[in-house]
Amino acid sequence: MSQESVLVVGSIAFDDLEMPQGTFEDVLGGAATYSALAASVLAPVRVVGVVGDDFPARHLDLLRARGVDTEGVERVPGKTFRWRGRYSQDLSSRVSLDTQLNVFADFRPKIPASYRGSPYVLLANIHPGLQLDVVRQIERPRLIAADTMNFWISGEAQALAELLRKVDLLIINDEEARELSGMQNLCKAAVDIRKRGPSQLIVKRGEHGALLFDPHGTFFVPAYPLEEVNDPTGAGDSFAGGLMGYLARCHGAPPSPHTMRRAMFYGAAMGSFGVEAVGTKRISELNLDQLARRIESFRSLVDFGGSLSVD
Ligand code: AMP
Repeated sequence: MSQESVLVVGSIAFDDLEMPQGTFEDVLGGAATYSALAASVLAPVRVVGVVGDDFPARHLDLLRARGVDTEGVERVPGKTFRWRGRYSQDLSSRVSLDTQLNVFADFRPKIPASYRGSPYVLLANIHPGLQLDVVRQIERPRLIAADTMNFWISGEAQALAELLRKVDLLIINDEEARELSGMQNLCKAAVDIRKRGPSQLIVKRGEHGALLFDPHGTFFVPAYPLEEVNDPTGAGDSFAGGLMGYLARCHGAPPSPHTMRRAMFYGAAMGSFGVEAVGTKRISELNLDQLARRIESFRSLVDFGGSLSVD
């Protein structure tokens, strides 16, 4: 299997998490951080983003120790992006209490020359204008995937509409799909969103799995059932990183329909690791053997043996 690299751009953050088990502050987070750590289990990763002078060197060391190239991470005077969220008692929902863009407010990504030919590009969650800046600087990759969230769907609709015309795959959650399309029914929402640009759409549904809508039909992957869920933050970003890492690991051509479907399992498996511990801890310790084992249990979870038809 050849290994190609994944370019990830997105937020690198401090998260303050109000959880039923307590409040955790200054937790290393951000969409790019989760996605890069997840993808790095499977493929070489390059990150583009910005941090302030309050960002500890050990966090960038951690990324590098996982094989993530951080040449594209700028450090500038000011404060690092900060997000504060509060989770419900059962962790099934959350509200964003505060989003401080800080150094991201004036950031213009500069893609290092060595990154421009990256075949797999993940525009993780950040201002869609910055995601577009990245698209303008790269050479035509095999696949451009993008994530976004309600904050940008409601606040930056025009930039997001332009971005959608430039991406192959959009990865969002069910609430975001409904908000973006204005439609309650997810199948109808998918038709609407795919007309706006991305030929492929993944709708993540938390503990209810994820749906892929593409020109070959609709595909579903369940969420891996876990006894212990500690922090759902970044599950979506870990999903996206796992999916892109898998595509990069096994590909020398645009992903086939079956490869995309298999990649959904890698995304779901990675998401399941992400929620086991608070912050990026579990993802940043994960190795390929552990991932392979979870993929195998995933297989048995959905393998019913024999045929489903009746005589
Ligand atoms: P997820 O749980 O997958 O939606 O991702 C959570 C991560 O997204 C957290 O680590 C936050 O730092 C980051 N985040 C929250 N709001 C935003 C935003 N508006 N733009 C970019 N990243 C964000």
